[in-house]
Amino acid sequence: MVLDEASLALLQTALKRLNKGFNTLPDVEHDLDLEAVENVLLEVAGRMQDNYPYPHPLYAGQMLKPPAPIARLAYMLSLWINPNNHALDGGKASSALEKEAVADLAKMFGWERHLGHLCSGGTVANLEALWVAKNLHPSQKIVASNQAHYTHSRLCRVLGIPFLAVPCNSRAQMDVGELKQLLETEEIGTVVITMGTTATGSVDPLAEILELQKIYGFRLHADAAYGGYFRLVEDLAPETKQAFACLNQVDSIVIDPHKHGLQPYGCGCVLFQDPTVGRFYHHDSPYTYFSSDELHLGEISLECSRPGSSAVALWATQRLFPLVPGGEFARGLNQSCQAAKILFNKLQQDSRFRVVFSPELDIVVWAVYGGTAGQSSRLAQEIFKAAARENLHLALANLPRYLLESQGVVMEWDQDSITCLRSCLMKPEHLAWIEPIWAILDRVTDAVLKDEGGS
Ligand SMILES: *Cc1c(COP(=O)(O)O)cnc(C)c1O
Repeated sequence: MVLDEASLALLQTALKRLNKGFNTLPDVEHDLDLEAVENVLLEVAGRMQDNYPYPHPLYAGQMLKPPAPIARLAYMLSLWINPNNHALDGGKASSALEKEAVADLAKMFGWERHLGHLCSGGTVANLEALWVAKNLHPSQKIVASNQAHYTHSRLCRVLGIPFLAVPCNSRAQMDVGELKQLLETEEIGTVVITMGTTATGSVDPLAEILELQKIYGFRLHADAAYGGYFRLVEDLAPETKQAFACLNQVDSIVIDPHKHGLQPYGCGCVLFQDPTVGRFYHHDSPYTYFSSDELHLGEISLECSRPGSSAVALWATQRLFPLVPGGEFARGLNQSCQAAKILFNKLQQDSRFRVVFSPELDIVVWAVYGGTAGQSSRLAQEIFKAAARENLHLALANLPRYLLESQGVVMEWDQDSITCLRSCLMKPEHLAWIEPIWAILDRVTDAVLKDEGGS
């Protein structure tokens, strides 16, 4: 059985407990046509079969990780209340849970004091961080590496902030020399670093960038949407570990619990080191904020209505899997990193492939060794499709020439980028599944290359 059914029984037990909290109220009739609901629900189940098998370890493609059963159950349970964390009026208990869960995320980064909240995802979280940056440094530019998530240049357009891309080194990290040059010549208010790029999982060299900050005095925002949780992992390469170790020195951090934090979609988080930036959010509301003088999360968030269920699920997950180094959750992340290392080693020893560089986190990117850049790209696409037919789901990534050139991937550059194979090994189970994954990749690659040779 691929999808867990066993945990569902717990939901009914917990629902009974929740219901008891309201037993002083007069009863309400639930006039429900169960048969009609069932019919539609079964139709939904049928329609949902048309999906890639995201929860299965043979799905090793895009950045998708199944929510923990506790997250799923807590989310569903809270839907019987459907709290709105905009104001305490709409989400009393879940707002308290949000404040606690977010404080635990801040603590993971070493912040005892912070301002922060959950939001719909990394995009909105980054929007808020860049918007605060703009308020603090109006008219100054924002820079991020050219491997940073494309959301940053787009958000800068939304916010009307001039944006510049900093070139990367051959490991897809922000090139510190290039950054220094820009700082010399441009009015830069904020540097966005990426703690784990979406394409290759590269971590920008934060320690060196902090040295530049001492000279040039810019604001630092860390986009750790995907990589933030790796701060808990002890077994990283020394320079990667060093970057995570000084993450407490940045001004703001974005982390996506819906990426690596075992949450259903709709859970991002923005954190500010200086709580006084809350002043930029200030507004009065004629409708809300009546039930309490305590902080209503809507007073420090750009989104108004927000799912309290996201906070409930995150709190429950962190209760079960505390965010501590060496804990069960951290061990799971470590297993993902191990899986990536093993796959990297296998690829590196295989003459059919060229690995771009050793993985810093749990994403591996590799090219097919081939004559021209175009041929290599085409072969990668063929292998991608052939693997999917055998139930192994990988991803593709277009990487620019400068990241690949030194690896001797191809003989001839007839185009300026190569489509590479990419695998996000985000599930702890990927470690145990690396051999079956490799067996399929090995087999389909042989078949594709044989076809190519024969044609
Ligand atoms: C996924 C991601 C984003 C965008 O976040 P969403 O949750 O998809 O909106 C931003 N930055 C990085 C580094 C990411 O990996």
